[in-house]
Amino acid sequence: MDKEAAKRRIEELQQILNQYNYEYHTLDRPSVPDAEYDARMRELISLEEEHPDLKSADSPSQRVGGAVLDAFQKVRHGTPMLSLGNAFNEQDLLDFDRRVRQAVGDDVAYNVELKIDGLAVSLRYENGIFVRGATRGDGTTGEDITENLKTIRSIPLKINRPLSIEVRGEAFMPKPSFEALNEKRVQNEEEPFANPRNAAAGSLRQLDTKIAAKRNLDIFVYSIAELDEIGVETQSEGLDLLDELGFKTNKERRMCQTIEEVIELIDTLKTKRADFSYEIDGIVIKVDSLNQQEELGFTAKSPRWAVAYKFPAEEVVTKLIDIELSVGRTGVITPTAILEPVKVAGTTVQRASLHNEDLIKEKDIRLFDQVIVKKAGDIIPEVAGVLIDQRTGEEKPFQMPDECPECESELVRIEGEVALRCINPECPAQIREGLIHFVSRNAMNIDGLGERVITQLFKEQLVSRVSDLYRLTQEQLIQLERMGEKSVDNLLRSIGQSKENSLERLLFGLGIRFIGSKAAKTLAMHFDNIDQLKQATKEQLLEVDEIGEKMADAVVTYFEKEEILDLLSELKELGVNMTYTGPKPVKAEDSDSYFAGKTIVLTGKLTQMSRNDAKEAIEALGGKLAGSVSKKTDLVIAGEAAGSKLTKAEELNIEIWDEANMLEELKK
Ligand code: NAD
Repeated sequence: MDKEAAKRRIEELQQILNQYNYEYHTLDRPSVPDAEYDARMRELISLEEEHPDLKSADSPSQRVGGAVLDAFQKVRHGTPMLSLGNAFNEQDLLDFDRRVRQAVGDDVAYNVELKIDGLAVSLRYENGIFVRGATRGDGTTGEDITENLKTIRSIPLKINRPLSIEVRGEAFMPKPSFEALNEKRVQNEEEPFANPRNAAAGSLRQLDTKIAAKRNLDIFVYSIAELDEIGVETQSEGLDLLDELGFKTNKERRMCQTIEEVIELIDTLKTKRADFSYEIDGIVIKVDSLNQQEELGFTAKSPRWAVAYKFPAEEVVTKLIDIELSVGRTGVITPTAILEPVKVAGTTVQRASLHNEDLIKEKDIRLFDQVIVKKAGDIIPEVAGVLIDQRTGEEKPFQMPDECPECESELVRIEGEVALRCINPECPAQIREGLIHFVSRNAMNIDGLGERVITQLFKEQLVSRVSDLYRLTQEQLIQLERMGEKSVDNLLRSIGQSKENSLERLLFGLGIRFIGSKAAKTLAMHFDNIDQLKQATKEQLLEVDEIGEKMADAVVTYFEKEEILDLLSELKELGVNMTYTGPKPVKAEDSDSYFAGKTIVLTGKLTQMSRNDAKEAIEALGGKLAGSVSKKTDLVIAGEAAGSKLTKAEELNIEIWDEANMLEELKK
């Protein structure tokens, strides 16, 4: 690129990045994914390196963070709060290690910490008392958010020694709170937060502390601003001291003697990422010795003794090449985006959910748009937005059809629902999806009968309703593609075995509206067999714990249908079990456990056992689990990051246990 072109591009990038910074740091509302920002920033840095005379002191590559809002008092930081240099791959880490060794020699150890996706805050203590908390702001000056920070329970208002110190940490919103908050915002027709960092920042920069208090924020403290003045020599000792003082630090930290060890550790941490109850966006690697840190010093923007390894982008940009429509088991029409293949979080993505028509309209997603794709909860990719400024004019708005793409009957929109539905009960797509659901893992769990085989069986007209599955013969199956004798035998055996399933699997598999696997189990346990359930009135159903109005109505309507009763008697004749055979709940009077007869609410994340296992263990001791806290609750067991249920329990003066208490009682 010639000098003139480089100059123009640098100016353009500076302008774009300033705009992105403003949206991200000041408005807490980014318009592009971080990966897009990082890519533009890398482009700017490399152009500035090629042409050092074009680099200006106010370039975004030289600045930390965003502007300071007038709404808050300004706070000047005693020691600047900097950003971190980035590493995006192994080579960047090796380069960092080489630079460090060149400066301080080979005797280096690294302290490796999680990079929590929140916002940096500074906490000032005078004689052991918390006096002021601030955001990072532009690095030199931040905003005074003391009152909002006081709503975070893990920030001690008094520490264990009368020290006057400034500590730094990352305030964040735990995943469950973030998801709950966004769900609520969508319900209230407010824009959801793009990521937990923006949600945490948006909460702490509220003028009304009541709002921050409701947001269930938490903090991990990761450094003391002037550590050496209190006689500590390494970053890891500093963290231990923070623990002693009563701060909450992150316990995933490790020491590594070589960069190779660091790389290995990063690989392990990546696989654990989904298990943490908070989002992390990378790993921070810090030279452990404070002497060496001092020797290495700082650039204008970040310390030379630390680097942030950023995980591969979980949000990427690609082109939307088509929108495909599919018909679900309940007739709902779901649009799916067909994308130019792109890598997201390690896997190639070519399809992403668009949820429903309203969402396409709201986000103004058009055919051939450049779209932002992200992985929600690490599994299902979705289209999160459109890069409107990259439109060329060839994009086309998308129109949902009036007719079912499978059976051509007219689509309807049921009042109060966003989805369009095909209501033709004979629609082949719905029947096929219903069959796939029936054999799925949480339903009848028939091994070897996946989507592919069901689609074949359906096409060959060997199966058109679930009872047909139990009439399949060896001769019929052997004709199917990719079916050998052995697989036919196995398949017939698993079909046979599924007849013995306990009632809840059948109930769930039948696909009664609003009856998920959990409700199916509750109903099966309560009514014991299908005949009793069939006869249950709405009132009787409502008496069952956790069965609400909608579910009760759905069950009654379901068993009123003639064709369903026919199907059930067919299944019965074919030998399908219709009785609950799982463990029976223990009656309170048969148990001497503390839990016996008590109504108990489990909330927050448990670390030692899954919530389901805990529930079953408590039920086996005669306890009754409820979903929400009320005056009738006897006991609340709060795991990590417990939110509004815990607050409510405190308000109502209900007994509260932590996970350790529960485990002790379970062991008795
Ligand atoms: P950064 O997030 O890359 O790293 C520095 C920050 O890491 C620190 O300030 C601190 O808050 C945090 N951190 C978390 N755990 C830590 C630990 N254990 N030790 C030390 N620090 C820890 O840098 P930044 O300057 O805060 O933000 C820049 C990044 O923000 C960019 O790389 C980009 O991904 C994102 N960004 C995105 C947009 C956008 O429009 N999407 C705009 C601006 C910035």
